[in-house]
Amino acid sequence: MESVEISNQPSCADDTDPVSLSVSQARDAIRAALTMITDQESVPIRSALGRVLAADCISPIDVPSHTNSAMDGYAFAGVDFPSEGTREYRVAATVLAGQTSAHRCAPGECVRIMTGAPMPPGTDSVVMQEQVEVLADQRIRIDARHRLGQNVRQAGEDIASGASVFERGRSLTAADLGVLASLGFAELRVFRRPRVAFFSTGDELRSIGETLAEGEVYDSNRYTLFAMLRELGVDLFDLGVVRDDREALEQAFRQASAMADVVVTSGGVSVGEADYTKEILGSLGDISFWTIAMKPGRPLTFGRLGNAMFFGLPGNPVAVMLTFQQFVRPALRYLAGGRWPTPLIVEARARVALRKRPGRYEFVRGILAYDDAGRLTVGPSGAQGSGILTSMSRANCIILLDEDCAGVSEGDVVRVEPFATWW
Ligand code: AMP
Ligand code: MG
Repeated sequence: MESVEISNQPSCADDTDPVSLSVSQARDAIRAALTMITDQESVPIRSALGRVLAADCISPIDVPSHTNSAMDGYAFAGVDFPSEGTREYRVAATVLAGQTSAHRCAPGECVRIMTGAPMPPGTDSVVMQEQVEVLADQRIRIDARHRLGQNVRQAGEDIASGASVFERGRSLTAADLGVLASLGFAELRVFRRPRVAFFSTGDELRSIGETLAEGEVYDSNRYTLFAMLRELGVDLFDLGVVRDDREALEQAFRQASAMADVVVTSGGVSVGEADYTKEILGSLGDISFWTIAMKPGRPLTFGRLGNAMFFGLPGNPVAVMLTFQQFVRPALRYLAGGRWPTPLIVEARARVALRKRPGRYEFVRGILAYDDAGRLTVGPSGAQGSGILTSMSRANCIILLDEDCAGVSEGDVVRVEPFATWW
């Protein structure tokens, strides 16, 4: 049986810290500190995707606005259907979608009708054209299988005029935009998006386009943060790389907190660097330096910086993404809409054994896939060191191994948070 060692990177994060917070304690503390943004604005409907409604949407009209045919066929008065045998009718008029017919059907008459066309006066039922025998001289014949009211969409059956369609606080989806368009809304009242300022810290960081000297690395965190923030649809301000320098950092913290609702930084919160940042942040805000019993992502800084919320993420690229996904993303969703999102979590069978000791929460980058029998299975996406971003790239999910988990055997059912619902 193959076994994958997860805790393979020796680091200070390997030992369980007796004073550390659990993942759920950290989440609860963040949630308790947040207040939703209540500023509002109006946006055109095309810009409303993913935005949060600031007011209930009340339908000004019935949808459909008129009772209409659900089929191409013939409109009848249902009382006029034969109860046995067959019956012939005269086709007295034709009505296409977008037209109306004023012809009132007398007994023995019907109207040729197309899908979506309003039901002519005196009719309440439609027979689909495939079930009609067309005769000469504008006459047709039907049999006795038809029911009064069939194949008709009633006015207001989807949405009645005056009904509340969406409530304040709803985050608008593609289908919602369609519903709102069907009601004729051109503009919507929504809450302002959170403004997020972010920067990287570290003397070893170089920006793309610069040449790397010995010991230097390109700043990748600003790109993963940019992309994750972009996916969330917040307003973002990229403040670049800030040197490990007291004045430069203080200046960056001040600037960021003045322009944004939330400030996100990476690096500078690990042991050794923390004291330094602590001193500056202590003078500018009210910040907690947390050790969280999780891997990756053990050090996390959270609190208030001026009027902004502050998240100081670890420096390691995978730890940045994990802590963002587990803490910052739900917090931003909460600020934007007043609701802490519930992640989709599925169960899958482990394709390999996963070694783990109880004590801390481990987030394992994984690949979810169906086996030949159509069952969902999962295994690690590669080496799990917190600097190894390629295994994050390959992953389509995170395997959730909670504090109590003492390892997973091949075939065990584990909990998995997919990155998307398709892959
Ligand atoms: P730190 O938390 O600042 O001690 O950083 C931990 C590790 O992450 C170090 O190896 C850093 O070089 C690396 N790191 C920090 N920030 C970044 C960044 N923006 N992009 C890529 N790697 C980084
Ligand atoms: Mg650093």
